[in-house]
Amino acid sequence: MARIVQKFGGTSVGDIERIRNVAARVQREAAAGNEVAVVLSAMAGTTDQLVAWTREAAPAADPREYDVVVSAGEQVTIGLLAIVLGELGVPARSWTSWQLPIRTDGAHAKARIETIDTAALEADLAAGRVAIVPGFQGISPDGRITTLGRGGSDTSAVALAAALNADRCDIFTDVDGVYTCDPRIVAKARKLERITYEEMLESASQGAKVLQTRAVEMGMKHHVRIQVLSSFEDVPGTLVVDEDEIVEQEIISGIAYSRDEAKITVARVADKPGVAAAIFGPLADAMINVDMIVQNVSEDGEETDITFTVPEGDHQRAIDAIKRSRDAIGYARLDHDANVVKVSVIGVGMRSHAGVAQRMFRTLAEKGINIQVISTSEIKVSVLIAEEYTELALRALHSAYGLDAM
Ligand code: ADP
Ligand code: ASP
Ligand code: MG
Repeated sequence: MARIVQKFGGTSVGDIERIRNVAARVQREAAAGNEVAVVLSAMAGTTDQLVAWTREAAPAADPREYDVVVSAGEQVTIGLLAIVLGELGVPARSWTSWQLPIRTDGAHAKARIETIDTAALEADLAAGRVAIVPGFQGISPDGRITTLGRGGSDTSAVALAAALNADRCDIFTDVDGVYTCDPRIVAKARKLERITYEEMLESASQGAKVLQTRAVEMGMKHHVRIQVLSSFEDVPGTLVVDEDEIVEQEIISGIAYSRDEAKITVARVADKPGVAAAIFGPLADAMINVDMIVQNVSEDGEETDITFTVPEGDHQRAIDAIKRSRDAIGYARLDHDANVVKVSVIGVGMRSHAGVAQRMFRTLAEKGINIQVISTSEIKVSVLIAEEYTELALRALHSAYGLDAM
């Protein structure tokens, strides 16, 4: 007997027929004698609609009420699955996050899970009942509903698997595993049998939304056995594992992209100590995450341009924060551009192989694609390019690193 957490994403619970398909999978695990806890997303499109309604009601809605609204989709699907399982004769019950509770911090719309009280769920499992839990939602220290950020149901599932000490956390989605690149853009992308936590973490944080970044972080920390697989086909998925579980490591495991980027250039600031602090201080105070940064010193060495990227959603707030500090910074011009995409090549093999970045730059040059900003870490190289080249760049790089499926 094993203890399994199964998570089903939005497309997998997109209508009642699909919920029946989910129920059949849950039933199969339970019939095999396993203890099953299920985490569900809202139906595909529902969360987008709920977000849109809050924006229509008020562009800057009270985040506490925003979370009440956008968390609602998950309450619908958990109840529906419990109903369908009941019809099949499979004992099951649903729980909302505050009933358990799933406790988070108070950072609305991007809350972090702190603890999950598993007593009620343990009782269900011991009684042979399937426990069904909503993804994405929790409850703050002052008793308000919170949500975990878009794609957060993955994190709910991995956190639950850790709290329940589950043998496996199966993430069922609309692709049959983790690929070398988003298979919806690069048709030649290859499915990976295994990927390291580290590479999955880097891919997720660079935009591969197949798993939420925090879910991978949590899996890594608590040694949760995560598997990504299709809810529609019975084929093996991708296992997220420790590095020593991969026998033959390729240099590059994948390519990710993120359109959620905006570039800001603060032009002609003095080249002297304190200027970077004057620019990035107000951004930090506004809780805006800065990602890539470059600084170009002018020929006379007296002035520089500083270019950086922020999430597209924070674009306007970032510009406002810089403008408010114009006197302290002392710049000549402020330029910005949201038509950019960040493309990243990722692989732990980079640590021991030279030439990875060079191949990226040459490949893009051959396609006539201009690189606007570059950043690197131990296991990734990222470039910022014009958004219109996304597909071209991804496909060319995928071939250049020998990742194309035969
Ligand atoms: P769910 O609703 O099940 O959580 P998501 O839409 O959040 O599903 O994530 C699955 C999607 O992630 C896929 O449909 C695919 O387009 C996208 N994706 C991006 N990068 C990758 C990758 N490297 N491998 C697989 N899927 C990827
Ligand atoms: N329903 C939420 C979203 O769309 C959470 C999730 O599906 O993971 O972001
Ligand atoms: Mg998702």
